[in-house]
Amino acid sequence: TKPLLELKGIKKLYPVRKGLIIQKQIGTVRAVDGVSFRLMPGETLSVVGESGCGKSTTARLAMRLIEPSEGTIHYDGQDITHAPRAELRRLRREMQIIFQDPYASLNPRMTVEEIIAEPMVVHNVGDNASRRDRVRELLRLVDLAPYHASRYPHEFSGGQRQRIGIARALSVSPRLIVCDEPVSALDVSIQAQIINLLKDLQQEFGLTYLFISHGLAVVKHVSDRVAVMYLGQVVETADKATLYANPRHPYTQALLAAAPEPDPTRRSAGRTLGGDIPSPLNPPSGCRFHTRCPLAQPRCSAEIPALREIGAGHLAACHFAETVPDFTRFRDGYGI
Ligand code: SF4
Ligand code: MG
Repeated sequence: TKPLLELKGIKKLYPVRKGLIIQKQIGTVRAVDGVSFRLMPGETLSVVGESGCGKSTTARLAMRLIEPSEGTIHYDGQDITHAPRAELRRLRREMQIIFQDPYASLNPRMTVEEIIAEPMVVHNVGDNASRRDRVRELLRLVDLAPYHASRYPHEFSGGQRQRIGIARALSVSPRLIVCDEPVSALDVSIQAQIINLLKDLQQEFGLTYLFISHGLAVVKHVSDRVAVMYLGQVVETADKATLYANPRHPYTQALLAAAPEPDPTRRSAGRTLGGDIPSPLNPPSGCRFHTRCPLAQPRCSAEIPALREIGAGHLAACHFAETVPDFTRFRDGYGI
């Protein structure tokens, strides 16, 4: 089978200018800096990293909501890197997005029925009567009673609102859904319900998910593969089992230690990863993680580590990926 979505060497660079009359470019924000991945039909790829790592921008580039500065995007075998507006319109029906904040993403003046039907109206799917039926069917699919159709978003809890957002995304029968931190704003007790609902819907409709998250714990149950991003680049990617059991990049190790329910054999977050995230404007030399990496060597600030295969389908961008110990599993040593 061929990938449903493929990004190759995707970059999004923003020039930064200074000066009132004569503007001079003083640098480049490297928001996304050479990201590649493949998403197979029916698969869930999770893109994980701290805020500002470029994961949301990557998702928007993948959907062609913004245009890349460099690289190519293929959807279902077709090069859509510079697809014109009319073609993107057809594409947008197949690619839907579920947003992070179910409070902000639903129009408070629209009824649930209008909200869920909106993509069908935009894409000219069905007539009023069939949309009406479809809205009720979608409400049942996300475990909400059909009579909710005439209500307004403020009458619902965060979890219910996210179900409405999911129903809206499903209304036009997409193939790919970008889930942009869909449970980050929800109570922990509700998160699992929404994750399970997304998994059930994936099974039922053969959906492909690009799942964006700032933590590894949230995506553990939903992912088939995981890509970890740091400062605009993928630093490690592997199938889920490999990534969680044998993380080879010190940043992935630190993210695993920082999980809300950390592996008891790993040291806690505060003791493993300090320092601020550097600015994507003029990022650190060599390995971008060297300013925070507890295992950094002199070579790390001088030489850029390539993202290279260290095992079957397991890629890591660290000079010492094969040999670094999982530093979060050591209680002494490294002077940290
Ligand atoms: Fe750390 Fe060096 Fe590996 Fe970068 S290349 S992750 S600084 S050990
Ligand atoms: Mg974001």
